[in-house]
Parts: sequence; structure tokens; C-alpha cells
Amino acid sequence: MKIGIDLGGSKTEAILIDNKGKEIFRKRIKTENNYQGTIEGIELLIKGIESNFGVVKSIGIGMPGVVSNDTSLVKNANSIWLNNKPLKKDLETSLNKEINLENDANCFALSEAVDGAGKNYHVVFGVIIGTGVGGGVVINKKVIQGCNNIGGEWGHISLPNRTKDEKKYSNKCYCGHEGCMETYVSGPGFSSIFNSKYNENFDSYQIIEGFNKGDNRCIESLKAYVDHLARGLSIIVNTLDPNIIVLGGGMSNINYIYDNISDQLKKYVFSDTMHTIVVKNFHGDSGGVRGAAWL
Ligand SMILES: [Zn+2]
Repeated sequence: MKIGIDLGGSKTEAILIDNKGKEIFRKRIKTENNYQGTIEGIELLIKGIESNFGVVKSIGIGMPGVVSNDTSLVKNANSIWLNNKPLKKDLETSLNKEINLENDANCFALSEAVDGAGKNYHVVFGVIIGTGVGGGVVINKKVIQGCNNIGGEWGHISLPNRTKDEKKYSNKCYCGHEGCMETYVSGPGFSSIFNSKYNENFDSYQIIEGFNKGDNRCIESLKAYVDHLARGLSIIVNTLDPNIIVLGGGMSNINYIYDNISDQLKKYVFSDTMHTIVVKNFHGDSGGVRGAAWL
């Protein structure tokens, strides 16, 4: 059996699965927004499962950010109380066993590659388009972290061939760069561009609602959104050439994306044929926690 933990900013979820991926137990608790509280929450979840189901050897944790290869400390986490902390070492000391930690977007990609939408494919690129934008590369069911621990982090490449208009309405990214994919294709990025262009105060759901009602501004914005997504993903196809791209996160629930993205991608990819398919995730919100268990 395997335990997976999804350490989120507001909740921490644990799952127990068997070797075939069948869910046996699941529990969710609130994440304390301090380091000691976060550690104690994870310990409590693991000890609770083990007291009911026996000792589990395989434990994986999906988390925001990564454990740096250089320092063994957490970096790039938006749950900022984790940054610069020896999370892996502290958990292993208190639980007295080895634990695998991995970026949450990588866990999502792994889950979809093992027994989700990408289970029949060799090279899977998992994409999170939600509050933030992340990604993960999985080849032959194995996460490719890369030597800087940033494999798949396509959210912070710049939107290719930005037009004057796209530069005008873009926001500075929290990473310090200008024009990152995240500022265009995250939920908040999408609505922020719409609002500054049309002087509105819509969230992404309201824009989709407007699209369904035939509001031209919303139709234009969603068309542009799919184009932005295709331009960003064309870089992935041109370099990694995955068999399948699986989308997750809140924005992945927009069906219009799947009806139009392939035609857009074909325009930008350096190939006369385009066999890469773009699909919605299979496991829904459970992708992260299941992927952590598969670590
Ligand atoms: Zn950025």
C-alpha cells in the first residue's frame, strides 16, 4: 500500500491506495499556515492511517515548490512558511522513515501518466492552469525533475510573439519577469487582462458565463485565451514533442479549449503533422494526492 499527501496552501489531504491504485482511505485537514503546524498535520495524518491499516513503507508528498538539490531546503513555494526549511529532513526524522517529496504539478502529471488520461502514452506533459500555472514531464511513468528541479515549469516562459496589445495588457509576474505564460493563462491572469481591457470587474467564471450568453467581449477573450495557450504549448511540442498534454486546474474545465486548441497548435508547431493530443484530466481534484502516492 502507498500513502500520498497533497500539501496545499489551505488544506492537506492524505490518501491510501493499493498497488493497483484502488483508493482505500482518504482524509482532509486544514493546513496550518506555519511550519511547525504543517509538519504536525502531516505526521498526524500518516500516524492515523498507520494505526488503522498498519505500517506503510511508501510515502510521497506533493507540495508547492520543490526541495532544492543544492541546499535540501524548500524553494519556490507560494506557501511561503515552507521556504528555506528542511522539510524532508524534519519529516524523515520525526517519522523515522524515508519520504519522497515532489512538486505538486509533477504529482498531477505522474498521476495522469500512471492510470489517468495519459496511461497509454510514453511521453506525458501535465499542465496546471488554475490560480497559478505549472507543469510536469513524465516519461515512461517517471517524473523528469531536471538538474535545476524546474522540469516542466512552462508557466514562466514568456508568451511567444507578443503583439503590442498583448504587451499593453500584460501584468508583471511575481517571479520578476514580464510576459510569463502564467500572467496570460492562469485564471486570475485571464480575468485581469479582460478587466483592464474592458474596464470591468469580472472573474474567470463570469467571463465564461458571458461567453455562453454571446457577449462579444467574452467570446474574443476566450478565443485569445486558447491562442495564448496554444502559443505557449507549441514550445513544449517543439522541444519535448509529447504524445499527450493533459490539462488540470480550474481553467481546464472550459470545454471550448478542447474543441479549438488542436487547430491553434497546428499553426505554431514546426511540423506538417500534429499527433500530440490535448485532453482534460481523468482524476479531477484527486490528481495531486494520487500522484504523490505513486512517487
Ligand atoms: Zn513568471
